Amino acid sequence: MAGIYIHIPFCKQKCTYCDFHFSTTFHAYRKRMVDALCHELEIRKDYLGNQPIETIYFGGGTPSILLHEELTQLLTTVHTYFDTSLLSEVTMEANPDDITPENITFWKTSGINRLSVGLQSFKKSDLNWMNRAHTVEESYSCVAMAIQNGIENLTVDLIYGLPGLTNEEWIHHIETVIKMGVQHVSAYCLTVEEGTALDTFVEKGKIIPASENTQAEQFLLLVETLEKHGFLQYEISNFCRPGFESRHNSNYWKGIHYLGAGPSAHSYNGYSRSWNIRNNHTYMNAIEQQTSWFETEELTSTDIYNELLLTGLRTVYGVNLHQLEQIFPIDVRFHTQVDQLCEQGLMEKKSDSIRLTKSGRLQADRIASDLFRLHDEN
Ligand code: SF4
Repeated sequence: MAGIYIHIPFCKQKCTYCDFHFSTTFHAYRKRMVDALCHELEIRKDYLGNQPIETIYFGGGTPSILLHEELTQLLTTVHTYFDTSLLSEVTMEANPDDITPENITFWKTSGINRLSVGLQSFKKSDLNWMNRAHTVEESYSCVAMAIQNGIENLTVDLIYGLPGLTNEEWIHHIETVIKMGVQHVSAYCLTVEEGTALDTFVEKGKIIPASENTQAEQFLLLVETLEKHGFLQYEISNFCRPGFESRHNSNYWKGIHYLGAGPSAHSYNGYSRSWNIRNNHTYMNAIEQQTSWFETEELTSTDIYNELLLTGLRTVYGVNLHQLEQIFPIDVRFHTQVDQLCEQGLMEKKSDSIRLTKSGRLQADRIASDLFRLHDEN
């Protein structure tokens, strides 16, 4: 089983904090881009070695900007060139202002069965300085509209650690989405990425980022509040009602193979990782002229081993030791480190797996890197 990710590099406007790849001036070439995406899917149809596709994920950018005929063209291409007989999850990222009864009806009949809504905040001043394209009213109304129109698997994105966001406001945001009836929440701490408008605001002193303490407090409030309401934290930033894990993202963390189409999209097939050009025009030209549009890195056994640790320790599933041992025998040093982490209450060990405790997950990346193999150990 494998997955397909399709990157839609269009946005209505530029959010100040965002460093994803997208363009706001896409209207003149949107058809050409969709044709290029379809062409890439066709050209790379053998990348996944005929594995059946379990999940499709439309990310971006803003996939909900796609016209109905553009979405149909993309989905038809996937169904034409890949084995979709076992397809079980098709996710579309949507911005609140694109959620209308007409769109929802069309998305559902096209096969989209999971909607990921970028709400981010219910605070007007935050939506304004972040330059989000939607209003507070749309943040409130879009989820109800999606549910009323039959979307049964709905996830929302929220951001914490925003300048001036109090803990009380943050709890209010979380409790609001719980009351709305969503099955899944992804919550991210605001980070100041180089080259973004936010970076400039911070440099000029126009925005003062939240302190690390506030960010950590809001993360703990997030975990506590969602757990109190029956949500499972199945990955550091992802929470769901039982049975509503994102299959597509869980498969990334389990090392399942995927093909990513579109500018800036990444792909992984167990041997190598590749990443597409991050420029719309260069991407379209390269696809049309059949020149190279992606770079590839062959993965060493050490890369694969370390990546299994890094991704697995971020999740509630943990790391399967048999899977790890198929790459390298687990040595005494590893066992000693694991025992120490268990004694410190940061890790739990079962016969065939290890996973971090709640407090361990706060330091997941540091713990994983301590357990990494060094490249010269190959
Ligand atoms: S809508 Fe999403 S992808 Fe587009 S600029 Fe805003 S955060 Fe970035």
